[in-house]
Amino acid sequence: MKNIVVIGANQCGLAFAKFAADAGFDVNVYEAKQRDEVAYNWTDDMMEETFPQVGLPLPPEEIHTRKRSWTFIPPSQSVKVFVPVPEEELDFAMYRRPFNAWLEELATKAGAKVHFGTKVDRMLIEGGKAVGVMLADGTKVDAGLVVDCGGVNSPIRNSLPDDFGIEQRIDPNDTFVVRRTFFRRPEGTKRPEFTNCAYLKHLGENGISWCLLSYDEQAADVLIGRLGKLTDARYTNALADLRRDNPIIGKEIVTGGELLQIPVRHPIATMVSNGYALVGDSAYMTIPMLGSGMAAGMRAGRMLADVIAEPIGDPFSVENLYRYQKQYMKEIGAEHSAINMMKNWLLKTDDRNVDFLIGKGIVNKKMLVEASAGHMLRMTFPELVSTALRGIKRLDLLLELAALMGKMEKQLDIAANMPEQYDKEALKVWRQNYEKAFQ
Ligand SMILES: Cc1cc2nc3c(=O)[nH]c(=O)nc-3n(C[C@H](O)[C@H](O)[C@H](O)COP(=O)(O)OP(=O)(O)OC[C@H]3O[C@@H](n4cnc5c(N)ncnc54)[C@H](O)[C@@H]3O)c2cc1C
Repeated sequence: MKNIVVIGANQCGLAFAKFAADAGFDVNVYEAKQRDEVAYNWTDDMMEETFPQVGLPLPPEEIHTRKRSWTFIPPSQSVKVFVPVPEEELDFAMYRRPFNAWLEELATKAGAKVHFGTKVDRMLIEGGKAVGVMLADGTKVDAGLVVDCGGVNSPIRNSLPDDFGIEQRIDPNDTFVVRRTFFRRPEGTKRPEFTNCAYLKHLGENGISWCLLSYDEQAADVLIGRLGKLTDARYTNALADLRRDNPIIGKEIVTGGELLQIPVRHPIATMVSNGYALVGDSAYMTIPMLGSGMAAGMRAGRMLADVIAEPIGDPFSVENLYRYQKQYMKEIGAEHSAINMMKNWLLKTDDRNVDFLIGKGIVNKKMLVEASAGHMLRMTFPELVSTALRGIKRLDLLLELAALMGKMEKQLDIAANMPEQYDKEALKVWRQNYEKAFQ
């Protein structure tokens, strides 16, 4: 059977649908929300190189602009470190609604059918294999493959039977709970010297806040995010602090304001089972330090489509689908899992260390540029060590960082080297090693 059901029509589901339909599969995408409610009403950053990487043309000019350079502010708020990036190296900032409309058009032109306002109630399973889905209205849809792009709290992944061997629920502490709100900029307020300010471990709490001047310069784009939980009290307090430093934050809300969750952990250890595959946030494909997930999820969609288009044996068998996970971990997931270790260290370490590293320029501009673009590990290991060595006056910190880098390198190696073929027992051992660093 060549039928594929995709759950979720945000950019990961739509991109995969296009790739799979191009490869000749019969693809139906089911999305619980209405078309114009799926994507956020703002811009988010994405590496331009993702488009050629996945074989898509560059999107039309009117649906993206260029991201601006960031200014980083450590917990003490004693300095503002502006990190200028040359214009041509800045990522795209995608207007998410038109971006989704463009992806939907590509997917439907390739032959995929996208059904909005159509919730998937549950997955149909026979003999330990996914065989389709049941829609909320009771309709049964047969499928050889169910691709779960249902997001961080995918209800389908959350209710998988244990014998699928896939971790069902995410630990809330592995999520970044955020409120992003656009406040109208009060008339007459001066254009800020730094347009994109990121407050690291803002107010000494586990998370970040940012205040950006919106692209039309009419609003302040304010994000407040904390790990695990964002109480109203914390939000109010953080907003008041941002207001003190950013007069562009007015009182009137233009858009946004809902509480959202982003996975910020290492990728899920098992992404596939017979007739079932996870793609995007449902498999925790975001960069743990930044929460960016569009590029990795779209690249994963390309890998999965290629693996089923040129299968070894049954395209939808776990043995064949495993090739997708192996490739994903080698090319993207291993790096993300090492970055997760760095994120955990940053959260755990004394705020004074973060102040020291940023304030004294030990975490240098190159590192911040790479980190803000999600390319942390493009820097070679010796580069990272030599960067840390410049902080020699703080031997304690140097030793801590050296130990961290050693562990990150080991994690990178484990995560990138999954067993050659699908083998349940070998995978059990790999999974234990892979998850050890996070227990
Ligand atoms: C404030 C904020 C800022 C961000 N900034 C960036 C950024 O700058 N760059 C970046 O790359 N990423 C960013 N991200 C992350 C990015 O939004 C996600 O990584 C990405 O949208 C994940 O896409 P997805 O398709 O995997 O899942 P989702 O976007 O979560 O979409 C899942 C879809 O599945 C649907 N669904 C769920 N269950 C069912 C069901 N039972 N039946 C039918 N449909 C169902 C949902 O309605 C939803 O539309 C940001 C996220 C937030 C919240």
